[in-house]
Amino acid sequence: MTKFLPAANGASSRVPWPPDPFAYSDGRLCVGGLPLEEVVAATGTPAYVYDLDAVAAAYRRAAAAFEPIGGRVLYAVKANADLAVGHGVTVHVESADELEALEAVAARLERPASFAVRVNPDVEVDTHVNIQTGHDEAKFGVPVAVAHELLARAARGELAGLTPVGVHVHVGSQLPDPDGVAAGARVGLEVLEAGRAAGLELDWLDVGGGLPVDYGGGSAIGPELFAAALAPVVAGRDVRLAVEPGRALVARAGALVAKVLYRKHRSAGRMLVVDTICESTDVLATEADLPDLAPGELVAFLDTGAYGMTMASNYNGQPRPAEIVVADGVARVARRRETWEELLASETGTGAPVAAVQGPAGPLGW
Ligand SMILES: *Cc1c(COP(=O)(O)O)cnc(C)c1O
Repeated sequence: MTKFLPAANGASSRVPWPPDPFAYSDGRLCVGGLPLEEVVAATGTPAYVYDLDAVAAAYRRAAAAFEPIGGRVLYAVKANADLAVGHGVTVHVESADELEALEAVAARLERPASFAVRVNPDVEVDTHVNIQTGHDEAKFGVPVAVAHELLARAARGELAGLTPVGVHVHVGSQLPDPDGVAAGARVGLEVLEAGRAAGLELDWLDVGGGLPVDYGGGSAIGPELFAAALAPVVAGRDVRLAVEPGRALVARAGALVAKVLYRKHRSAGRMLVVDTICESTDVLATEADLPDLAPGELVAFLDTGAYGMTMASNYNGQPRPAEIVVADGVARVARRRETWEELLASETGTGAPVAAVQGPAGPLGW
């Protein structure tokens, strides 16, 4: 097999990836040219700060890398199917039951819904066990045999109101190299070709996300190498190729800014208490070298633009942080910090009874 190296992108593959908008200037950490302490002055901390120009730059580079092989870059959001269908998007289904639910939604909305089958390609990738999604024991996708069966049902005209468009695979996140994506794409293509042979018009091949980010601050393998690995797989297959990077587009563009509240001394060493995160598994870095920080000083946790705010919780009764976006040298509040009132708003006190024991209450007869 010949290796495909997109000549035009040869230079950009040596540029650090993803683009990093955070840099020191005169000893102050700046984002998009603005000092971080100024950016968070209005909202206070904790606050997530994102540089939209860096997100756009990451998107442009990924789009340019996949463009020569006809691939589109779709940003990965975990979608809501009910809302989605009404807007005419393609739903990726991963079970026969889900397909039936989609049939019901399409019937209720009286509009056909297009779907792609998410296939579990049974490909193992060398990444963190919790983010391997493409091996056969993972909960995602249907086995190849089931994918064939679902498409066969569609070919027999058994799925009223549903239009199959293709296949979706996603082998995992933080991939060490593009081999897993290429292997997953090959399995997805087999299923797609079998559907075509059964008479369906399928052309959608979505190979998922997984473009990595180096959380150690270095450069990760860029989108060009993923495009190069996929090029021979899709060449001449007449498919609409899509990739869905998530973290690679946004992780490095964001930082969580927190304030030091207190200092503690333990036998194991110095400890700082900050005004964000609390659970003992919340580990963002270990053995990081910190200067002597005092209460009131700010700490920025870099590379937290992905799966940070979306996974923020109200653990320990904490309101969720504010979010600030920086673009073209201007910072704007995109979401203000949650208030204590909002945190308590859904509490109903003891509330109205929803179930009650008939007769003497409880086994002890209280
Ligand atoms: C989460 C997810 C992605 C994005 O993964 P990243 O590691 O952020 O690139 C893409 N596709 C699917 C189906 C996902 O569930």
